[in-house]
Amino acid sequence: MSTIPFDTTPVFIGGRWHAGDSGQTLPLMNPSDGSVLAHIARGNAADIDAAVRAAQSALDGAWGALSATERGRLLMKMSALVLEQADELARLEALDVGKPLKQGRADAVALARYLEFYGGAADKVMGETIPFANGYTALTLREPHGVTGHIVPWNYPMQIIGRSVGAALAMGNACVLKPAEEACLTALAFARIGHAAGLPAGALNVVPGLGEEAGAALSSHPGVRHISFTGSVPVGALIQAAAAKNAVPVTLELGGKSPQIVFADADLDAALPFLVNAGIQNAGQTCSAASRILIERAIYDSVVQRMAERYRALRVGPAMDDPDVGPVISARQRELVQGYLSLVRDGALPIAAQAALPASLPAGGYYVPPTLVAQVPQGHRIEQEEIFGPVQAVIPFEGEAEALAIANGTAFGLVAGVWTRDGGRQMRMARKLQCGQVFVNNYGAGGGIELPFGGVKHSGHGREKGFEALYGFSTLKTIALKHD
Ligand code: NAD
Repeated sequence: MSTIPFDTTPVFIGGRWHAGDSGQTLPLMNPSDGSVLAHIARGNAADIDAAVRAAQSALDGAWGALSATERGRLLMKMSALVLEQADELARLEALDVGKPLKQGRADAVALARYLEFYGGAADKVMGETIPFANGYTALTLREPHGVTGHIVPWNYPMQIIGRSVGAALAMGNACVLKPAEEACLTALAFARIGHAAGLPAGALNVVPGLGEEAGAALSSHPGVRHISFTGSVPVGALIQAAAAKNAVPVTLELGGKSPQIVFADADLDAALPFLVNAGIQNAGQTCSAASRILIERAIYDSVVQRMAERYRALRVGPAMDDPDVGPVISARQRELVQGYLSLVRDGALPIAAQAALPASLPAGGYYVPPTLVAQVPQGHRIEQEEIFGPVQAVIPFEGEAEALAIANGTAFGLVAGVWTRDGGRQMRMARKLQCGQVFVNNYGAGGGIELPFGGVKHSGHGREKGFEALYGFSTLKTIALKHD
């Protein structure tokens, strides 16, 4: 407990720290050793109601009165504070999520960049004038929805807060943020940063708590006018159903089973680090993880061998030691991943490589060995289901048509990567892949804050990141003025 620089138990509503209505707390675990790190408030429906009211008051008061430029400047100020505190934020994320320090620092830098990007964009969202009937002037305006709800998961709290709350604030919405019960320290730190930067009271409210309590209360609250949800497919469906009762739009960023497709003419030296890193980063708990690696048969053996060498060199350890791979988030997540590894063994699928778990790992930590599974047949559960752990499936293919059939053959459609030097094939593949983002000869574009992101099929709908997010976090009003 002593390592946390502030009291974690309150909720942040209307610019003030409150004890929370229930007076109850939830334990927050340190995934690296299984110890209790802190206790967080168990926010409930009454807290959510108070937060929504505070947000509405902010819209009716000081927050709603700011110009777009003034909102943008506040976000820029928050960005500078995040950068100043990047090391501390990385440390919180290491303790809370089990995220290696350098990955946590990269997330803090990404959060700062989101705030900078959306701060700069706040006064650049324009409407249109429309050539209409004589005697009229017709135009469109982009207006905030009002109170927006943000329900985020535990895997990338800072990045997801940056892309959703950052864009929503830029458009003039007032936000109620419900972080995940497994990891919410950087969400609380974000509330402090907003307050220190001078965000008017109520513009940003943070209520930690359980999904089925605080989360469900937020998604069904009649005062909320837009919901941004990042998380699992089943909970996404619940959120959409709750929002439908209030006729409220939702952005759903759900899971994925994203492929990287490697053709025989690819620059393998360039591809290799991306093939492995995109599978094991954050212990594989990344919605856009490249959990399937499709390799053209002519180079299949040599690529698997080179990936295996990298796997064997991976260092697994506690997050504060800044390893290549830290623990997964919880004992439950470790069990889920171990269940998939049992499927691999039961199906006698060849394990091309498995990183060793050092004997010195803390006994209570939630570690699983990063595992590269070869020759995975299309349709196998390892090939179809999101594992959310450091396990990659390698699948051989022959030619573009088979690569596309495998790549598009899951329920998901979030991201895909294509490695080839053939210009025509690059664009043919990019056009035919069923997903929201395609990377050619790279994967992830270094975070791609400026690039619209989101899925098709079970990966969700709506887009966050980039300028596009500002349209999602606003509503269009048309004005037709008759003057003759
Ligand atoms: P989850 O759906 O269980 O939880 C996500 C959030 O929803 C948490 O804040 C949780 O408290 C809340 N929640 C849970 N039940 C709720 C309910 N009934 N009503 C309202 N809110 C509720 O997901 P998770 O296990 O925490 O996260 C892992 C999943 O998230 C994976 O499937 C992953 O792919 C997905 N994810 C997607 C993206 C993306 O951008 N597409 C990013 C990160 C994670």
